[in-house]
Amino acid sequence: METTDLPKSSWMNEELDMLESACQRFYQEDCAPHYERWEEQGSFDRDAWVKAGETGLLGAEVPEEYGGPGGSFAHDAVITYQATRMGIDGFGAPLHNAIVIPYILQYGSEDQKKQWLPKLISAEYISAIAMTEPAAGSDLQGVRTTARKDGNHYVINGQKTFITNGQLANFIIVVAKTDPKAGAKGTSLFVVETDDVDGFRRGRNLDKIGLKSNDTSELFFDDVRVPASALIGPEEGEGFIQLMEQLPQERLLIALQAMGRIERALAETVAYVKERSAFGKKVIEFQNTQFELAEIKTEATVAKVFVDHCVARHLAGELDAATASMAKYWLTDLQCNLIDRCLQLHGGYGYMNEYPIARMYRDARVERIYGGTNEIMKLLIARSL
Ligand SMILES: Cc1cc2nc3c(=O)[nH]c(=O)nc-3n(C[C@H](O)[C@H](O)[C@H](O)COP(=O)(O)OP(=O)(O)OC[C@H]3O[C@@H](n4cnc5c(N)ncnc54)[C@H](O)[C@@H]3O)c2cc1C
Repeated sequence: METTDLPKSSWMNEELDMLESACQRFYQEDCAPHYERWEEQGSFDRDAWVKAGETGLLGAEVPEEYGGPGGSFAHDAVITYQATRMGIDGFGAPLHNAIVIPYILQYGSEDQKKQWLPKLISAEYISAIAMTEPAAGSDLQGVRTTARKDGNHYVINGQKTFITNGQLANFIIVVAKTDPKAGAKGTSLFVVETDDVDGFRRGRNLDKIGLKSNDTSELFFDDVRVPASALIGPEEGEGFIQLMEQLPQERLLIALQAMGRIERALAETVAYVKERSAFGKKVIEFQNTQFELAEIKTEATVAKVFVDHCVARHLAGELDAATASMAKYWLTDLQCNLIDRCLQLHGGYGYMNEYPIARMYRDARVERIYGGTNEIMKLLIARSL
């Protein structure tokens, strides 16, 4: 792929460079050859997850005492960024690594960590987080799924939708109401190990306009009994606070995915316009092409500096929720604008699925919606004014 020479991330180091190379090899050799088939079947192969685990790409932030390599968010940032940079957009591991696992690391008991983390690292457990319901997306407080205490168990009832990794996941964090009358304070998080329970059912693998290789599903919970030890955190009612604490990292992760895709779009487009001719010239020789690409590269450079600033602040424990929301909203809007302009420079070929830019155009769109819509991001930013 053409190099874009965007600014190198200040937080990278020699060890992370090695991880970057390992990611590139994994995405190129173990994913790219199968990617079209995965798009057709609507999910990755489970084997690819296992291979990712063997390559050290799952649970990078898990400490050594629980079988992990003891990395930091920087490791997950590299794994995430390189996936979209290399065109492996539908890989669910960024969510598994940097959204699900942190709930266990931050709030899990010693027993939960020992029991679950090694399985999450090896892909014996593929994970998902189920917040959204048919009638509750942006308004998370409106979740209707309930978890009723029954002796040493909880009984979960409800329905979730749009759940990433929903077909493959056998370890699902479920957002449920333990006290439906208490609003946000009545919300708790539970782990459902789906291999071991009755009453759990997967619905359709939803037919999306993009991210075809990722399974996104409805999930149904009908009197699903989980042990009391499936509650995340020491007591009921802490779920909403846990979500609010973890969502900024999810938003930064989405900004990184957008940035990886922007870099790829720029590289692909520069390569294309250098090859393609019209009116007896290469397309790159038209001044319009040069000005467009000059603007795209400038905006990509500004975006890279901003997202790197956010990663560095997050690594220092200083990234506030408003700034994470800015990164998510601005980078994901920007990527749709830039990819659209890159597609235009491909002419009709840009509209053909066999060209990577067409897939990027489809895959990028959802990032303005999930992880909290960009409208919700603006509400969060506005609260900081
Ligand atoms: C491919 C995909 C994968 C997903 N993965 C997951 C997952 O793994 N886990 C999970 O729990 N969820 C997941 N989601 C769900 C996603 O997070 C929600 O779709 C999103 O939060 C929006 O909720 P909604 O779809 O109900 O839209 P709604 O909340 O109904 O919003 C509709 C419109 O109203 C706007 N709106 C809503 N409230 C306000 C407001 N207060 N002010 C201004 N505008 C507002 C929204 O911005 C949007 O434009 C996924 C979604 C998709 C499409």
